[in-house]
Amino acid sequence: MATRKLLLLPGDGIGPEAMAEVSKLIAVMNAEFGAGFETETGLVGGSAYDAHGKAISEEDMQRALEADAVLFGAVGGPKWDGVPYEVRPEAGLLRLRKEMELFANLRPAICYPALAVSSSLKKEVVEGLDILIVRELTGGVYFGEPKEIIDLGNGQKRAVDTQVYDTFEIERIAGVAFELARTRRNKVCSMEKHNVMKSGVLWKEVVATTHQAKYSDVELTHMLADAGGMQLVRWPKQFDVIVTDNLFGDMLSDVAAMLTGSLGMLPSASLGAPDPKTGSRKALYEPVHGSAPDIAGKGIANPIAMIASFAMCLRYSFNMIEEADRLERAIAAVLEDGLRTRDIMSDGMCEVGTSAMGDAIIRKYRELS
Ligand code: ATP
Ligand code: MG
Repeated sequence: MATRKLLLLPGDGIGPEAMAEVSKLIAVMNAEFGAGFETETGLVGGSAYDAHGKAISEEDMQRALEADAVLFGAVGGPKWDGVPYEVRPEAGLLRLRKEMELFANLRPAICYPALAVSSSLKKEVVEGLDILIVRELTGGVYFGEPKEIIDLGNGQKRAVDTQVYDTFEIERIAGVAFELARTRRNKVCSMEKHNVMKSGVLWKEVVATTHQAKYSDVELTHMLADAGGMQLVRWPKQFDVIVTDNLFGDMLSDVAAMLTGSLGMLPSASLGAPDPKTGSRKALYEPVHGSAPDIAGKGIANPIAMIASFAMCLRYSFNMIEEADRLERAIAAVLEDGLRTRDIMSDGMCEVGTSAMGDAIIRKYRELS
């Protein structure tokens, strides 16, 4: 069987604690299910800076480019507040994204039935919610030039940001969204603001032509991004896959995250383009949450976002659909049993630490096999 090469970059704060639970799971999948994962571990963020003065070393960068997938924990913390800007912890992640050319950011918003009652929204709005936001990650206003603050000399300044999108960038992100929709409920909603932005006009047009040319079996709708934000809060279950640009994607995925409860629950994936020869693509999987310095080292972090990120890795990098489904069902079942880390604790539930939560999910995974 082909080996599956994984690079683990646990990072800082609760990153290593959450990653330890995934490592346990990988060991079990290898020993008991013959999964054939080959893992290496590297340093990123503050821990890399402490070891060699950079947010990621050249060797680890090279290993990331050669791995089939990268699992990333979290970076940063007050310890590194004063380090030079170019080597700050976050620079490690930005370099990985850039050099691996990860243009598609996938952020699912899933509301596990057991947690629907504790959401800030009405139960019927969020129960069973399962949407996927596909955000363009390497273009748009984040990188467009010119980008500057000009001193106008009369006590006034002018700030300029530029939104730039080329046809190929829109085509490839739309392609990812349509492909993913085919594996789900077969619906894509594209969001932009063509009423005020030229990039929105081109976005809408290219998504529509891509749809017509290759994906007309998928149901496509268009929505203005502001209306989309409103609809996400009003009735999110109308959506399956949402595809949108870098800036709108940033905002809309945070809105969607709030529908589901805790930051400690949410996974993400960032994908590159498929290799024309092998069809495989570079990919990095990470929890949406950060390094949570306030709870680091206490053994109370919720490992579910990290474990669910590994489930995405099984699904998207290794086509291990059955295993990914089983792992996601194991997470749901453990929540159903009433186990909770502190961040999702509610009355009458059983509070457990990071390691006990990881163990319980692994036990369920075995039971469901
Ligand atoms: P970053 O800038 O790296 O995104 P942040 O400051 O936005 O970080 P987090 O580090 O994600 O935020 O933490 C925000 C809050 O959520 C903190 O109070 C933290 O303890 C809590 N939190 C985040 N992740 C988890 C988790 N996995 N389990 C429990 N609590 C968490
Ligand atoms: Mg944050």
